[in-house]
Amino acid sequence: MKEVRTRFAPSPTGFMHLGGLRTALYNYLYAKKNGGKFILRIEDTDQERFVEGATEVIYDTLRSCGMEWDEGPDVGGAYGPYVQSDRKDLYLPYAKELVEKGAAYYCFCTKEELDERRAAAEARGEVFKYDKHCMHLSKEEIQQKLDAGVPYVIRMNAPTEGESSYEDVVFGKLTFPNDTLDDMVLIKQDGMPTYNFANVIDDHLMGITHVMRGMEYLSSTPKYNLLYNAFGWEIPEYVHLTTVMRDAQHKLSKRHGDAYYSDFIEKGYLKEALINYLALVGWNPGDDREFFTMDELVDVFDIHRLNNSPGIFDMQKLNWMNARYIAQMPFEDYLAAVTPWFDKAFEGMDRKMDYKRLAELLHSRTEVFNQVPDMVDFLREMPAFDKELYFNKKMKTSAETAGAALDLCIPVLEGIEDWSETVIHDAVMAKIAESGLKNGAVLWPLRIAISGKQSTPGGAFEIAYLLGKEETMKRLKASRADV
Ligand code: GLU
Repeated sequence: MKEVRTRFAPSPTGFMHLGGLRTALYNYLYAKKNGGKFILRIEDTDQERFVEGATEVIYDTLRSCGMEWDEGPDVGGAYGPYVQSDRKDLYLPYAKELVEKGAAYYCFCTKEELDERRAAAEARGEVFKYDKHCMHLSKEEIQQKLDAGVPYVIRMNAPTEGESSYEDVVFGKLTFPNDTLDDMVLIKQDGMPTYNFANVIDDHLMGITHVMRGMEYLSSTPKYNLLYNAFGWEIPEYVHLTTVMRDAQHKLSKRHGDAYYSDFIEKGYLKEALINYLALVGWNPGDDREFFTMDELVDVFDIHRLNNSPGIFDMQKLNWMNARYIAQMPFEDYLAAVTPWFDKAFEGMDRKMDYKRLAELLHSRTEVFNQVPDMVDFLREMPAFDKELYFNKKMKTSAETAGAALDLCIPVLEGIEDWSETVIHDAVMAKIAESGLKNGAVLWPLRIAISGKQSTPGGAFEIAYLLGKEETMKRLKASRADV
């Protein structure tokens, strides 16, 4: 069997869209699964302007996610160069070959002429399609214009009758009437190829066997096939991927901050969780397994299990998965990862915070790191809270019972010299035992009085310890004054 060669061909925009990352992932998985090659090609010919550092964003993202490419701009390979703009001189001869074969033609129409014809067509209620005007020029007329240096583009000569079909791995057999195909531009006035042309030439020259890309290319593919056929080249397998959506109606968007890989990393998602989840948006393993390392994905990936309905990117599901990945981090790694978020939450605070202890309390309850500041901000400053919080049916507590409970705790805590969790625990528990009250009847109001929150990482003793004696006493007394 022929070696499988897949490619990821991003345009360097400066950002890695999650949909793009998933395309890269599926290409990578399929190549690795089949012992083939995964190729990175940078498609920069259609770009209006150069974006500084944009290719580095692509390299860094793929590498940090564990998708090393076998051939590409920085690693080389036998089919280079792998940056389209470095290949710019090789496309024109292929376009000229098509002109020779009658599969393409020079077009000298100016933008103004085209605009006029487009406006006229629209006035008639028609969709404008290039009218093959220049295809009817004589050989002499064409040569004259070329000699005179009249600017031109080269267009494909698409059939206007009949229909074109192809088999897609995900969507099955697709048929398009040929009158929907336009005479697309292959070479632009500046001599550069369009994406529509370059992708065919490059995929062929690079020996790509499987073209996996977004479904926005579904309807252009018959035109690409016409080019393959005109050259007499073998057509690759097509694997069109459905769009990654936020919900049934909406795409991921820059405005919502959910479109780019970097958005998620900045928010504190783990790349392993993101990759794991992305793999499942549009593909399923055929059983109910959900957790996969990259190697496990390589093992089970199957293009026949790609879905043909849109992939819904469910943020809640991702959060759940992220939490599981975080919980499984070695504690030292978790501490290192959560530290900048603590720094952010406690910036400028005049008390010391025991990060290690706080991290122990949060490790199993962190969904996404950017939620950490909100989870710990009560340690920085006592939040205003509703006295209703003292109410707890099970503990039989309320604002009315809180006063007595706090009165029990205040002198005990006041008397502690060595402010550690064990000492606090033992002293308070001894006092509760002596009082004959139930633990919860005292500990619930105590925790509310010093945290102001219904739920907190850690209980009353941990919180008191983290706050330090001075702050604990300050909070307790203020809360006591209130009930
Ligand atoms: N440069 C194209 C894009 O970023 C690539 C499409 C393809 O994979 O052929 O959408």
